[in-house]
Amino acid sequence: MAVLHHACAVPLARAAARSRSLSAVAAPAMMTGVSVPSKARESRVLIGMSEPELQQLALEFGQEKYRGKQLYHLLYQRKVKDIGDFSHLPQVFRNNLQEAGWRVGRSPIYHTVKAADGTVKLLIKLEDNRLIETVGIPVEDENGSVRLTACVSSQVGCPLKCSFCATGKGGFSRNLLSHEIVEQVLAIEEIFKHRVTNVVFMGMGEPMLNMKSVLEAHRCLNKDINIGQRMITISTVGVPNTIRRLASHKLQSTLAVSLHAPNQKLRESIVPSAKSYPLDALMKDCQDYFHQTSRRVSFEYALLAGVNDAEEHAIELAKLLREWARGSHVNLIPFNPIDGSDYRRPYKKAVSRQFKHLSLSFFTIFFTSPWHFQVHLPCMFCEGPGICKCSGVSQSYCECSENKGIRCSCCLWPTEE
Ligand code: SF4
Repeated sequence: MAVLHHACAVPLARAAARSRSLSAVAAPAMMTGVSVPSKARESRVLIGMSEPELQQLALEFGQEKYRGKQLYHLLYQRKVKDIGDFSHLPQVFRNNLQEAGWRVGRSPIYHTVKAADGTVKLLIKLEDNRLIETVGIPVEDENGSVRLTACVSSQVGCPLKCSFCATGKGGFSRNLLSHEIVEQVLAIEEIFKHRVTNVVFMGMGEPMLNMKSVLEAHRCLNKDINIGQRMITISTVGVPNTIRRLASHKLQSTLAVSLHAPNQKLRESIVPSAKSYPLDALMKDCQDYFHQTSRRVSFEYALLAGVNDAEEHAIELAKLLREWARGSHVNLIPFNPIDGSDYRRPYKKAVSRQFKHLSLSFFTIFFTSPWHFQVHLPCMFCEGPGICKCSGVSQSYCECSENKGIRCSCCLWPTEE
């Protein structure tokens, strides 16, 4: 699924897409007489390569093996973005790498938007001029330490067309390569000047449709950038046969499944791709995932007013989860309104009351603040860069000085029904 992402990133991407050029970048010629590892040969991008691969690369360029270790350090600890700045390496090695078409693999940040709570959305321009969105979400705990979550995209666009999702409406361009996923995390670290502690694959795209790159990026994030597996969440709306495949890798990361409905009929109306994946089969795969990995699946549920937010839905959801996934976490996510959608965000009080059935059934419920999701929404009144100035869930009025007291178009959590 990707509730965070869709909501966070798409409008920027859509706007920028107008000026997008789809011209392909010609592959640079290889350095004559030098052989390199096959994976690297394809992309000639250093980000994403492991330490042994970089050592092999150094050897194949006629360098000592320890030069590969230096490369590793420059890429992942010092986070140098250009081969020309690899000052620890001999000039001849740098020149040879560049002449052979090698590059670090860090793309320019095309645009950033910052919200009042510190959340930052980045628009990254890839080598083929396509744009992807990444969101950095800083949260300070009571001890003052900051948890910085990177919400990363796995595809440019998405083919699954979930009815509430802006990304789905924008269509699908291509899968991201593994280094294009990893570089999103490095970009967030660069902007925040802080290490990323958590990664969620909830940006643009369905990660299970790009599992190879997602798994390669997961390895790099864990082994090379030192983000614990348990700090990484892979989200899916459900793609047949992929949860089992993921389970076979026995990752210690969280699988987040976007349910959005407690029964098949309603789910199909919200998530069209659910037609090919009956709810019972999805829940069985989630149960098997837990048995294989000992990691509980977390369930995402986008709250759509008048569609899936009634008491009967909560009761049905509790029953479904009791049957298949006892003790799971349920993340209730207020819908983030998008252009051209009839869906509305429900009242928080009503939802809290109706969904008490879940907590009575011993599921841990989280309400995800809609704030992160409204970063991109241009306020009806706060024009300019398109940043809503509302300060969060508890704030139901626009802060624009000339419109004090008027309900903001972004803050759709009314305090009273
Ligand atoms: S359309 Fe794609 S990106 Fe959007 S919610 Fe569905 S799976 Fe996620």
